Amino acid sequence: MTAAPQPTAIPLVDLAAQQRRIGAGIGAAIKRVLAHGVYIMGPEVHELERQLSAYSGAPHVISCASGTDAIALLLMAKGLRAGDAVFVPSFTFSATAEPIALLGATPVFVDVLPDTFNIDPRSLEVGIATARALALKPKAIISVDLFGQPADYEALTKLAQQYRLDLLCDAAQSFGATWSGRKVGTIGSATATSFFPSKPLGCYGDGGAIFTADADLASRVRSLRVHGQGADKYDNEHVGMNGRLDTLQAAVLLQKLTVFEEEIVARDRIASRYGKALRGCVLTPTVSAEVTSVWAQYTVRVDPARRASIVRLLRDKNIATAVYYPKPLHRQIAYRAFPTASDGLPVSDVLSNEVLSLPMHPYLDETTQDRVIAAVIEAVG
Ligand SMILES: *Cc1c(COP(=O)(O)O)cnc(C)c1O
Repeated sequence: MTAAPQPTAIPLVDLAAQQRRIGAGIGAAIKRVLAHGVYIMGPEVHELERQLSAYSGAPHVISCASGTDAIALLLMAKGLRAGDAVFVPSFTFSATAEPIALLGATPVFVDVLPDTFNIDPRSLEVGIATARALALKPKAIISVDLFGQPADYEALTKLAQQYRLDLLCDAAQSFGATWSGRKVGTIGSATATSFFPSKPLGCYGDGGAIFTADADLASRVRSLRVHGQGADKYDNEHVGMNGRLDTLQAAVLLQKLTVFEEEIVARDRIASRYGKALRGCVLTPTVSAEVTSVWAQYTVRVDPARRASIVRLLRDKNIATAVYYPKPLHRQIAYRAFPTASDGLPVSDVLSNEVLSLPMHPYLDETTQDRVIAAVIEAVG
């Protein structure tokens, strides 16, 4: 007896499909960098910053080495220090909180909303009271636009004003999305994004960027990105870092930007199709009326007792899935000693047991989508 042939693998993100479309342009762009040889802060880096500014509408864009560095540079530029509290959702990737702790300040974890997976303004207010009770100085909010959907910035902007907090946006997953008709990068006092390969706009390595309308902040970030330099390389005004984006990565990103808008439209079309087909079978994601999502992930909620078996059944059909995130930050060994909003983070706990991300990328054709849909429906039963 011969085993049944394995169906074609459906990866979570298919960068090879994108390469079939724009690979030649990327190859040529890389060759141009090899020819001019300016590997650090070459012309492509400046051109990318100019194009990202034009695309987003943010007056100042500073590229950097990763999304994590983007957050760290922003916090350094804001002068964050020991005794300061920064409010972050617990249901996120560790890089949202890590730079806060690295700088000696205190991340205070707050809960998220069950429908959008984004920061819960009510829990944020509890977190602020918790921080004050601990004699910490409330300094900033880092809101996360999880899975590509901007957070509730109407509520967050109000709370930031009321409590005199800086509103910083972790848009690592949401670059290209909009809130109230405004592009990500123009909301809050500054925004950080990531160009990690699997993000909606990804390069072929690590990369990130900072967006702001604040010229003073932008100039501090530019200095901090290159060892806190002043007038020149050997003049140091601040303790900074080596946080530059490589010229090669900027060249890749410039090519990817040419198809980025079309890719966002394709992602949105796939998400609507998934939504229609899967509604009633699993809890499908909701997108608030005032936002658009770039669908960094298509994340559903399933019965926690069934999740492992659903993952297995999909794997048997060669369909990749992922759990973002299996453990909220306030339960991680590295972060569990930090404060949480005093009335608990029940939604973060529930979500970590229920979420399941399905294959999502702009080159997922309808036949492949249908295979995913059929497999989920069969697995859920
Ligand atoms: C990916 C990600 C980051 C970190 O970006 P890197 O480029 O990997 O450093 C930060 N926050 C969130 C929410 C992310 O998804």
